[in-house]
Amino acid sequence: MTLLDLFDAARSERADAPAVNGRSYAGLHAASLRVARRLHEAGLRAGDRFALYCENRLAFVYAYLAGLRLGAVIVPVNVLYRAAELEHVLSDAAVSLVLTSAGTRPHLAKAGAFGAVDAAAVEAWAMESGEPEPPPVAPGGDDDAAIIYTSGTTGRSKGAVLTHTNLAAIASQVAVAWRWTSRDTLYVALPLFHMHGLGAALNGTFAAGGHLLFDERFDAARTLETLHRDDVTMFFGVPTMYVRLLESLEGAPPRLRLWVSGSAALASDVFAGFEARFGAQILERYGATEFGFACTNRFGGPRVPGSVGIPTPGARVRVAAPGSATPLPAGEVGEMLVAGPGVCRGYWGNPQATAEAFVLDEAGTRWYRSGDLARYDTAHDVYRIVGRIKELIITGGFNVYPLEVENELNRLPGIRASAVVGMPDPARGELPWAFVEADGAFDAGAVRAALGERLASFKVPREIVVVDELPRNALGKVEKHKLRDAR
Ligand code: AMP
Repeated sequence: MTLLDLFDAARSERADAPAVNGRSYAGLHAASLRVARRLHEAGLRAGDRFALYCENRLAFVYAYLAGLRLGAVIVPVNVLYRAAELEHVLSDAAVSLVLTSAGTRPHLAKAGAFGAVDAAAVEAWAMESGEPEPPPVAPGGDDDAAIIYTSGTTGRSKGAVLTHTNLAAIASQVAVAWRWTSRDTLYVALPLFHMHGLGAALNGTFAAGGHLLFDERFDAARTLETLHRDDVTMFFGVPTMYVRLLESLEGAPPRLRLWVSGSAALASDVFAGFEARFGAQILERYGATEFGFACTNRFGGPRVPGSVGIPTPGARVRVAAPGSATPLPAGEVGEMLVAGPGVCRGYWGNPQATAEAFVLDEAGTRWYRSGDLARYDTAHDVYRIVGRIKELIITGGFNVYPLEVENELNRLPGIRASAVVGMPDPARGELPWAFVEADGAFDAGAVRAALGERLASFKVPREIVVVDELPRNALGKVEKHKLRDAR
Protein backbone atom coordinates (compact mmCIF):
# COMPACT_ATOMS: atom_id res chain seq x y z
CA MET A 1 0.00 0.00 0.00
CA THR A 2 1.42 3.39 -0.98
CA LEU A 3 0.22 6.90 -0.33
CA LEU A 4 -0.76 7.15 -4.00
CA ASP A 5 -2.91 4.00 -3.57
CA LEU A 6 -4.74 5.77 -0.74
CA PHE A 7 -5.17 8.87 -2.87
CA ASP A 8 -6.40 6.79 -5.82
CA ALA A 9 -8.89 4.93 -3.65
CA ALA A 10 -10.37 8.24 -2.48
CA ARG A 11 -10.36 9.54 -6.04
CA SER A 12 -12.18 6.56 -7.49
CA GLU A 13 -14.85 6.67 -4.80
CA ARG A 14 -15.31 10.42 -4.61
CA ALA A 15 -13.95 11.97 -7.81
CA ASP A 16 -15.95 15.18 -7.53
CA ALA A 17 -15.63 15.67 -3.78
CA PRO A 18 -13.31 18.45 -2.59
CA ALA A 19 -9.78 17.31 -1.72
CA VAL A 20 -7.62 20.39 -1.18
CA ASN A 21 -8.74 24.03 -0.93
CA GLY A 22 -11.93 23.23 -2.86
CA ARG A 23 -10.15 21.37 -5.71
CA SER A 24 -11.80 18.01 -6.33
CA TYR A 25 -9.98 14.67 -6.17
CA ALA A 26 -10.39 14.27 -9.94
CA GLY A 27 -9.21 17.83 -10.59
CA LEU A 28 -6.20 17.48 -8.32
CA HIS A 29 -5.27 14.22 -9.99
CA ALA A 30 -5.52 15.63 -13.52
CA ALA A 31 -3.53 18.71 -12.48
CA SER A 32 -0.78 16.61 -10.92
CA LEU A 33 -0.51 14.39 -14.03
CA ARG A 34 -0.08 17.48 -16.22
CA VAL A 35 2.59 18.78 -13.88
CA ALA A 36 4.24 15.32 -13.84
CA ARG A 37 4.53 15.38 -17.63
CA ARG A 38 6.17 18.83 -17.55
CA LEU A 39 8.54 17.79 -14.78
CA HIS A 40 9.46 14.70 -16.78
CA GLU A 41 10.20 16.95 -19.77
CA ALA A 42 12.36 19.05 -17.43
CA GLY A 43 14.42 15.89 -16.81
CA LEU A 44 13.00 14.64 -13.50
CA ARG A 45 13.22 10.84 -13.29
CA ALA A 46 12.45 8.09 -10.79
CA GLY A 47 14.87 8.21 -7.89
CA ASP A 48 15.87 11.84 -8.50
CA ARG A 49 15.56 14.14 -5.53
CA PHE A 50 13.04 16.93 -6.03
CA ALA A 51 13.09 19.71 -3.43
CA LEU A 52 9.96 21.67 -2.60
CA TYR A 53 11.14 25.06 -1.34
CA CYS A 54 7.92 26.96 -1.54
CA GLU A 55 5.26 28.35 0.78
CA ASN A 56 1.94 26.57 1.33
CA ARG A 57 0.12 26.98 -1.98
CA LEU A 58 -1.44 24.70 -4.58
CA ALA A 59 1.80 24.44 -6.55
CA PHE A 60 3.29 22.63 -3.55
CA VAL A 61 0.53 20.01 -3.60
CA TYR A 62 0.60 19.56 -7.39
CA ALA A 63 4.39 19.23 -7.40
CA TYR A 64 4.30 16.82 -4.45
CA LEU A 65 1.79 14.47 -6.08
CA ALA A 66 3.48 14.80 -9.48
CA GLY A 67 6.90 14.04 -8.01
CA LEU A 68 5.56 10.97 -6.18
CA ARG A 69 3.88 9.72 -9.39
CA LEU A 70 7.19 9.99 -11.21
CA GLY A 71 8.95 8.04 -8.47
CA ALA A 72 11.06 11.08 -7.59
CA VAL A 73 12.05 11.53 -3.95
CA ILE A 74 10.45 14.59 -2.42
CA VAL A 75 12.65 16.82 -0.27
CA PRO A 76 10.45 19.39 1.48
CA VAL A 77 12.54 22.36 2.57
CA ASN A 78 11.78 24.81 5.35
CA VAL A 79 10.94 28.15 3.68
CA LEU A 80 12.81 29.98 6.43
CA TYR A 81 16.07 28.32 5.39
CA ARG A 82 18.67 30.63 3.89
CA ALA A 83 21.93 30.07 1.98
CA ALA A 84 23.89 28.02 4.53
CA GLU A 85 20.99 25.70 5.45
CA LEU A 86 19.91 25.40 1.80
CA GLU A 87 23.41 24.52 0.68
CA HIS A 88 23.54 21.79 3.30
CA VAL A 89 20.14 20.23 2.55
CA LEU A 90 20.28 20.51 -1.24
CA SER A 91 23.80 19.17 -1.54
CA ASP A 92 23.36 16.49 1.13
CA ALA A 93 20.33 15.12 -0.75
CA ALA A 94 22.00 15.76 -4.15
CA VAL A 95 18.82 17.45 -5.31
CA SER A 96 18.37 17.73 -9.07
CA LEU A 97 15.37 20.07 -9.23
CA VAL A 98 13.87 22.63 -6.84
CA LEU A 99 10.37 24.06 -6.73
CA THR A 100 10.68 27.74 -5.81
CA SER A 101 8.40 30.74 -5.59
CA ALA A 102 8.86 34.47 -6.02
CA GLY A 103 9.54 34.60 -2.28
CA THR A 104 12.12 31.80 -2.08
CA ARG A 105 13.90 32.06 -5.45
CA PRO A 106 16.30 34.87 -4.41
CA HIS A 107 17.50 32.76 -1.48
CA LEU A 108 18.05 29.71 -3.66
CA ALA A 109 20.14 31.81 -6.02
CA LYS A 110 22.47 32.70 -3.12
CA ALA A 111 22.89 29.02 -2.24
CA GLY A 112 24.29 27.96 -5.61
CA ALA A 113 23.32 26.86 -9.09
CA PHE A 114 20.37 24.49 -8.74
CA GLY A 115 17.84 23.67 -11.46
CA ALA A 116 14.51 25.25 -10.51
CA VAL A 117 10.89 25.34 -11.56
CA ASP A 118 8.63 28.13 -10.46
CA ALA A 119 5.43 27.72 -8.48
CA ALA A 120 3.52 30.05 -10.79
CA ALA A 121 4.59 27.93 -13.79
CA VAL A 122 3.49 24.76 -11.99
CA GLU A 123 0.08 26.30 -11.31
CA ALA A 124 -0.19 27.27 -15.00
CA TRP A 125 0.82 23.74 -16.16
CA ALA A 126 -1.84 22.33 -13.86
CA MET A 127 -4.53 24.22 -15.79
CA GLU A 128 -3.36 23.25 -19.30
CA SER A 129 -5.94 21.73 -21.58
CA GLY A 130 -5.85 18.27 -23.12
CA GLU A 131 -6.06 14.83 -21.60
CA PRO A 132 -3.40 14.30 -18.94
CA GLU A 133 -1.18 11.28 -19.55
CA PRO A 134 -0.33 8.74 -16.88
CA PRO A 135 3.33 8.92 -15.79
CA PRO A 136 5.78 6.26 -17.00
CA VAL A 137 6.40 4.56 -13.63
CA ALA A 138 4.41 3.47 -10.59
CA PRO A 139 6.61 3.55 -7.49
CA GLY A 140 6.61 0.55 -5.16
CA GLY A 141 6.00 0.58 -1.43
CA ASP A 142 9.66 0.07 -0.55
CA ASP A 143 10.88 2.85 -2.83
CA ASP A 144 11.99 6.09 -1.20
CA ALA A 145 9.24 8.70 -1.30
CA ALA A 146 10.59 11.57 0.76
CA ILE A 147 13.63 12.81 2.60
CA ILE A 148 12.51 15.12 5.37
CA TYR A 149 15.21 17.07 7.14
CA THR A 150 14.79 17.21 10.90
CA SER A 151 14.33 20.63 12.41
CA GLY A 152 17.88 20.33 13.66
CA THR A 153 17.76 22.01 17.04
CA THR A 154 21.30 20.75 17.54
CA GLY A 155 23.96 20.57 14.87
CA ARG A 156 23.37 19.88 11.19
CA SER A 157 19.96 18.59 10.21
CA LYS A 158 19.73 15.01 8.97
CA GLY A 159 17.42 13.73 6.24
CA ALA A 160 15.00 11.04 7.41
CA VAL A 161 14.20 8.75 4.47
CA LEU A 162 10.55 7.72 4.30
CA THR A 163 9.30 5.14 1.83
CA HIS A 164 5.94 5.19 0.04
CA THR A 165 4.77 2.57 2.54
CA ASN A 166 5.94 4.71 5.48
CA LEU A 167 3.89 7.68 4.24
CA ALA A 168 0.81 5.50 3.74
CA ALA A 169 1.20 3.90 7.17
CA ILE A 170 1.56 7.25 8.93
CA ALA A 171 -1.47 8.70 7.12
CA SER A 172 -3.59 5.64 7.89
CA GLN A 173 -2.56 5.67 11.56
CA VAL A 174 -3.87 9.18 12.13
CA ALA A 175 -6.99 8.62 10.04
CA VAL A 176 -7.91 5.52 12.05
CA ALA A 177 -6.96 6.99 15.44
CA TRP A 178 -9.09 10.10 14.98
CA ARG A 179 -12.00 8.46 13.12
CA TRP A 180 -11.30 10.74 10.20
CA THR A 181 -13.81 10.26 7.37
CA SER A 182 -14.70 11.67 3.97
CA ARG A 183 -17.21 13.94 5.71
CA ASP A 184 -14.42 15.84 7.46
CA THR A 185 -12.94 19.16 6.48
CA LEU A 186 -9.67 19.91 8.22
CA TYR A 187 -8.26 23.42 8.47
CA VAL A 188 -4.54 23.97 9.05
CA ALA A 189 -2.02 26.77 8.92
CA LEU A 190 0.90 24.39 9.47
CA PRO A 191 3.79 24.41 7.01
CA LEU A 192 3.50 21.64 4.44
CA PHE A 193 7.28 21.18 4.46
CA HIS A 194 7.07 19.53 7.89
CA MET A 195 5.78 16.10 8.94
CA HIS A 196 2.88 17.66 10.84
CA GLY A 197 1.49 19.50 7.80
CA LEU A 198 2.54 16.98 5.18
CA GLY A 199 2.37 13.59 6.89
CA ALA A 200 -0.67 14.26 9.09
CA ALA A 201 -2.74 17.02 7.51
CA LEU A 202 -2.28 16.48 3.76
CA ASN A 203 -1.60 12.74 3.61
CA GLY A 204 -4.16 12.01 6.35
CA THR A 205 -6.76 13.87 4.27
CA PHE A 206 -5.99 11.59 1.32
CA ALA A 207 -6.17 8.47 3.52
CA ALA A 208 -9.60 9.53 4.80
CA GLY A 209 -10.85 10.87 1.47
CA GLY A 210 -11.67 14.13 3.20
CA HIS A 211 -11.11 17.80 2.47
CA LEU A 212 -8.12 19.90 3.55
CA LEU A 213 -8.23 23.68 3.72
CA PHE A 214 -4.84 25.25 4.25
CA ASP A 215 -3.48 28.74 4.60
CA GLU A 216 -0.02 30.04 3.97
CA ARG A 217 0.58 31.11 7.55
CA PHE A 218 -1.13 31.14 10.91
CA ASP A 219 -3.18 34.16 11.87
CA ALA A 220 -5.40 33.70 14.92
CA ALA A 221 -8.24 35.97 13.74
CA ARG A 222 -8.31 34.41 10.29
CA THR A 223 -8.18 30.91 11.77
CA LEU A 224 -11.14 31.63 14.05
CA GLU A 225 -13.08 33.04 11.11
CA THR A 226 -12.37 29.96 8.97
CA LEU A 227 -13.19 27.57 11.79
CA HIS A 228 -16.66 29.14 12.01
CA ARG A 229 -17.41 27.83 8.50
CA ASP A 230 -20.10 25.16 8.65
CA ASP A 231 -18.09 22.54 6.80
CA VAL A 232 -14.94 22.69 8.96
CA THR A 233 -14.82 19.82 11.46
CA MET A 234 -11.17 19.58 12.58
CA PHE A 235 -8.17 21.76 13.39
CA PHE A 236 -4.56 20.60 13.84
CA GLY A 237 -2.07 22.98 15.43
CA VAL A 238 1.01 23.40 17.56
CA PRO A 239 0.75 24.56 21.20
CA THR A 240 1.58 28.21 20.43
CA MET A 241 -1.40 28.38 18.06
CA TYR A 242 -3.72 27.29 20.86
CA VAL A 243 -2.27 30.00 23.10
CA ARG A 244 -3.00 32.59 20.39
CA LEU A 245 -6.52 31.26 19.76
CA LEU A 246 -7.29 31.56 23.46
CA GLU A 247 -6.01 35.14 23.53
CA SER A 248 -7.92 36.13 20.40
CA LEU A 249 -11.34 34.57 20.86
CA GLU A 250 -14.16 37.07 21.25
CA GLY A 251 -17.73 35.88 21.32
CA ALA A 252 -18.81 32.32 20.76
CA PRO A 253 -16.11 29.74 19.96
CA PRO A 254 -16.22 27.67 16.79
CA ARG A 255 -17.52 24.15 17.39
CA LEU A 256 -15.42 21.39 15.85
CA ARG A 257 -15.44 17.67 16.40
CA LEU A 258 -11.67 17.52 16.89
CA TRP A 259 -8.82 19.80 17.94
CA VAL A 260 -5.36 18.21 17.79
CA SER A 261 -2.10 19.53 19.18
CA GLY A 262 1.37 18.17 18.52
CA SER A 263 5.02 18.88 17.69
CA ALA A 264 5.75 20.11 21.23
CA ALA A 265 4.33 19.70 24.72
CA LEU A 266 0.95 21.32 25.31
CA ALA A 267 0.94 23.09 28.68
CA SER A 268 -1.72 21.79 31.06
CA ASP A 269 -3.01 25.31 31.72
CA VAL A 270 -3.62 25.81 27.99
CA PHE A 271 -5.52 22.51 27.87
CA ALA A 272 -7.65 23.67 30.83
CA GLY A 273 -8.13 27.23 29.53
CA PHE A 274 -9.16 25.92 26.15
CA GLU A 275 -11.65 23.52 27.63
CA ALA A 276 -13.20 26.32 29.68
CA ARG A 277 -13.41 28.80 26.81
CA PHE A 278 -13.93 26.55 23.74
CA GLY A 279 -15.87 23.78 25.46
CA ALA A 280 -13.58 21.13 23.98
CA GLN A 281 -10.64 19.03 25.12
CA ILE A 282 -7.60 19.34 22.88
CA LEU A 283 -6.31 15.94 21.80
CA GLU A 284 -2.55 15.87 22.24
CA ARG A 285 -0.40 13.52 20.23
CA TYR A 286 3.29 12.74 19.92
CA GLY A 287 5.18 12.48 16.68
CA ALA A 288 8.45 13.17 14.89
CA THR A 289 9.84 13.41 11.40
CA GLU A 290 11.41 9.96 11.68
CA PHE A 291 8.25 8.01 12.49
CA GLY A 292 5.29 10.25 11.88
CA PHE A 293 3.16 9.43 14.90
CA ALA A 294 3.63 7.14 17.84
CA CYS A 295 1.13 8.17 20.51
CA THR A 296 -2.19 9.92 20.74
CA ASN A 297 -4.62 10.63 23.52
CA ARG A 298 -7.70 8.45 23.26
CA PHE A 299 -10.21 9.79 20.76
CA GLY A 300 -13.07 8.62 22.95
CA GLY A 301 -11.34 9.99 26.07
CA PRO A 302 -10.29 10.44 28.72
CA ARG A 303 -7.78 12.97 27.39
CA VAL A 304 -5.14 13.44 30.04
CA PRO A 305 -3.45 16.86 30.05
CA GLY A 306 0.33 16.71 30.04
CA SER A 307 0.25 13.27 28.47
CA VAL A 308 0.50 11.90 24.94
CA GLY A 309 -1.90 9.02 25.54
CA ILE A 310 -1.40 5.58 24.07
CA PRO A 311 0.29 4.17 20.95
CA THR A 312 -1.45 5.03 17.68
CA PRO A 313 -2.91 1.99 15.90
CA GLY A 314 -0.05 0.22 14.15
CA ALA A 315 2.76 1.85 16.15
CA ARG A 316 4.63 0.25 19.06
CA VAL A 317 6.39 2.19 21.77
CA ARG A 318 8.64 1.19 24.62
CA VAL A 319 10.43 3.04 27.42
CA ALA A 320 14.00 1.75 27.79
CA ALA A 321 17.26 2.75 29.41
CA PRO A 322 19.05 4.96 26.85
CA GLY A 323 21.03 2.77 24.45
CA SER A 324 19.10 -0.39 25.31
CA ALA A 325 15.95 -1.96 23.86
CA THR A 326 14.95 -3.71 27.07
CA PRO A 327 11.80 -2.20 28.56
CA LEU A 328 12.11 -0.53 31.96
CA PRO A 329 9.58 -1.28 34.71
CA ALA A 330 6.39 0.76 34.24
CA GLY A 331 6.66 4.21 35.79
CA GLU A 332 10.41 4.66 35.33
CA VAL A 333 11.80 7.42 33.13
CA GLY A 334 13.70 6.20 30.07
CA GLU A 335 14.08 6.78 26.36
CA MET A 336 11.01 6.47 24.19
CA LEU A 337 11.55 3.87 21.46
CA VAL A 338 9.24 3.53 18.47
CA ALA A 339 8.69 0.65 16.03
CA GLY A 340 6.14 0.07 13.29
CA PRO A 341 5.41 0.58 9.60
CA GLY A 342 5.72 4.37 9.80
CA VAL A 343 9.33 4.38 11.04
CA CYS A 344 11.81 5.72 8.48
CA ARG A 345 14.49 3.45 7.07
CA GLY A 346 17.31 5.72 8.26
CA TYR A 347 19.13 8.93 7.45
CA TRP A 348 20.06 9.80 3.91
CA GLY A 349 23.70 9.01 3.14
CA ASN A 350 24.55 8.81 6.84
CA PRO A 351 25.09 5.19 7.95
CA GLN A 352 26.69 6.29 11.21
CA ALA A 353 23.73 8.45 12.29
CA THR A 354 21.40 5.65 11.17
CA ALA A 355 23.27 3.06 13.24
CA GLU A 356 23.15 5.32 16.29
CA ALA A 357 19.43 5.99 15.88
CA PHE A 358 18.26 2.37 16.06
CA VAL A 359 18.54 -0.53 18.53
CA LEU A 360 17.49 -4.14 18.03
CA ASP A 361 15.68 -6.12 20.70
CA GLU A 362 16.07 -9.84 21.36
CA ALA A 363 13.21 -10.61 18.93
CA GLY A 364 15.00 -8.71 16.16
CA THR A 365 12.61 -5.75 16.15
CA ARG A 366 14.28 -2.55 15.05
CA TRP A 367 13.45 0.29 17.42
CA TYR A 368 13.97 3.96 16.65
CA ARG A 369 15.58 5.88 19.50
CA SER A 370 13.58 9.09 19.75
CA GLY A 371 15.94 10.93 22.08
CA ASP A 372 12.87 11.80 24.16
CA LEU A 373 12.58 10.89 27.82
CA ALA A 374 9.24 9.35 28.66
CA ARG A 375 7.46 7.54 31.42
CA TYR A 376 4.42 5.34 31.48
CA ASP A 377 1.90 6.73 33.97
CA THR A 378 0.25 3.63 35.40
CA ALA A 379 -2.42 5.60 37.27
CA HIS A 380 -3.82 7.16 34.10
CA ASP A 381 -2.70 4.47 31.64
CA VAL A 382 -0.92 6.98 29.39
CA TYR A 383 2.60 7.87 28.31
CA ARG A 384 4.13 11.17 29.34
CA ILE A 385 7.02 12.86 27.55
CA VAL A 386 9.23 14.48 30.15
CA GLY A 387 11.84 16.09 27.89
CA ARG A 388 14.70 15.48 25.48
CA ILE A 389 17.65 13.40 26.70
CA LYS A 390 20.01 16.12 25.54
CA GLU A 391 18.06 18.75 27.46
CA LEU A 392 17.99 16.82 30.71
CA ILE A 393 19.68 18.97 33.36
CA ILE A 394 21.88 17.19 35.88
CA THR A 395 22.61 19.45 38.80
CA GLY A 396 24.75 18.16 41.64
CA GLY A 397 23.76 14.62 40.62
CA PHE A 398 20.02 15.33 40.58
CA ASN A 399 17.90 15.14 37.43
CA VAL A 400 15.81 18.14 36.45
CA TYR A 401 13.32 17.64 33.63
CA PRO A 402 12.87 21.06 32.04
CA LEU A 403 9.27 20.34 31.02
CA GLU A 404 8.21 19.78 34.62
CA VAL A 405 9.63 23.15 35.67
CA GLU A 406 8.21 24.89 32.58
CA ASN A 407 4.75 23.54 33.39
CA GLU A 408 4.96 25.00 36.87
CA LEU A 409 6.22 28.33 35.54
CA ASN A 410 3.46 28.53 32.93
CA ARG A 411 0.80 28.13 35.61
CA LEU A 412 1.92 31.33 37.34
CA PRO A 413 0.02 34.52 36.51
CA GLY A 414 1.84 36.86 34.13
CA ILE A 415 4.04 34.18 32.55
CA ARG A 416 3.10 33.56 28.95
CA ALA A 417 5.79 31.04 28.04
CA SER A 418 8.99 29.66 29.48
CA ALA A 419 12.05 27.62 28.63
CA VAL A 420 14.29 25.98 31.21
CA VAL A 421 17.85 25.11 30.22
CA GLY A 422 20.97 23.84 31.96
CA MET A 423 23.79 26.37 32.28
CA PRO A 424 27.32 25.22 33.09
CA ASP A 425 28.31 25.59 36.73
CA PRO A 426 31.72 24.72 38.15
CA ALA A 427 30.36 23.39 41.43
CA ARG A 428 27.20 21.55 40.41
CA GLY A 429 27.95 20.70 36.78
CA GLU A 430 24.82 22.46 35.59
CA LEU A 431 22.22 24.77 37.06
CA PRO A 432 18.68 25.26 35.79
CA TRP A 433 17.96 28.70 34.38
CA ALA A 434 14.59 29.89 33.15
CA PHE A 435 13.90 32.24 30.27
CA VAL A 436 10.37 33.62 30.33
CA GLU A 437 8.02 35.76 28.29
CA ALA A 438 6.20 37.79 30.94
CA ASP A 439 3.43 40.38 31.07
CA GLY A 440 3.83 43.62 33.03
CA ALA A 441 5.90 43.91 36.19
CA PHE A 442 7.87 40.79 36.87
CA ASP A 443 9.24 39.77 40.24
CA ALA A 444 11.80 36.98 39.87
CA GLY A 445 12.04 36.54 43.63
CA ALA A 446 8.30 35.98 43.97
CA VAL A 447 8.34 33.51 41.09
CA ARG A 448 11.19 31.54 42.67
CA ALA A 449 9.35 31.51 45.98
CA ALA A 450 6.15 30.27 44.30
CA LEU A 451 8.08 27.49 42.55
CA GLY A 452 9.77 26.54 45.80
CA GLU A 453 6.33 25.77 47.25
CA ARG A 454 5.72 23.14 44.60
CA LEU A 455 9.15 21.84 43.56
CA ALA A 456 12.33 20.56 45.22
CA SER A 457 14.84 23.38 45.66
CA PHE A 458 17.35 21.92 43.15
CA LYS A 459 14.68 22.24 40.43
CA VAL A 460 13.96 25.91 41.09
CA PRO A 461 15.75 27.96 38.41
CA ARG A 462 18.78 29.73 39.80
CA GLU A 463 18.24 32.65 37.41
CA ILE A 464 15.06 33.81 35.73
CA VAL A 465 15.64 35.94 32.66
CA VAL A 466 12.81 37.89 31.04
CA VAL A 467 12.96 37.97 27.23
CA ASP A 468 10.68 39.76 24.76
CA GLU A 469 10.26 36.60 22.80
CA LEU A 470 11.71 33.11 23.08
CA PRO A 471 13.55 32.00 19.90
CA ARG A 472 11.26 29.58 18.06
CA ASN A 473 11.53 27.51 14.91
CA ALA A 474 8.91 27.44 12.15
CA LEU A 475 6.78 25.02 14.16
CA GLY A 476 6.83 27.23 17.24
CA LYS A 477 9.27 24.99 19.09
CA VAL A 478 11.69 26.87 21.37
CA GLU A 479 15.30 26.64 20.19
CA LYS A 480 16.96 26.20 23.56
CA HIS A 481 20.52 26.06 22.28
CA LYS A 482 20.13 29.69 21.16
CA LEU A 483 19.23 30.74 24.70
CA ARG A 484 22.23 28.91 26.09
CA ASP A 485 24.61 30.19 23.44
CA ALA A 486 23.49 33.79 23.91
CA ARG A 487 24.67 33.90 27.52
P1 AMP B 1 10.07 16.99 14.67
O1 AMP B 1 10.87 15.89 14.07
O2 AMP B 1 10.51 18.35 14.28
O3 AMP B 1 8.60 16.78 14.46
O4 AMP B 1 10.33 16.94 16.24
C1 AMP B 1 10.00 15.78 16.95
C2 AMP B 1 10.13 16.03 18.42
O5 AMP B 1 9.13 16.94 18.87
C3 AMP B 1 9.92 14.81 19.27
O6 AMP B 1 11.06 13.97 19.30
C4 AMP B 1 9.63 15.45 20.61
O7 AMP B 1 10.82 15.88 21.24
C5 AMP B 1 8.82 16.68 20.22
N1 AMP B 1 7.37 16.44 20.38
C6 AMP B 1 6.47 16.14 19.44
N2 AMP B 1 5.24 16.02 19.96
C7 AMP B 1 5.36 16.23 21.29
C8 AMP B 1 4.46 16.23 22.41
N3 AMP B 1 3.15 16.03 22.26
N4 AMP B 1 4.97 16.47 23.63
C9 AMP B 1 6.28 16.70 23.82
N5 AMP B 1 7.19 16.73 22.80
C10 AMP B 1 6.74 16.49 21.56
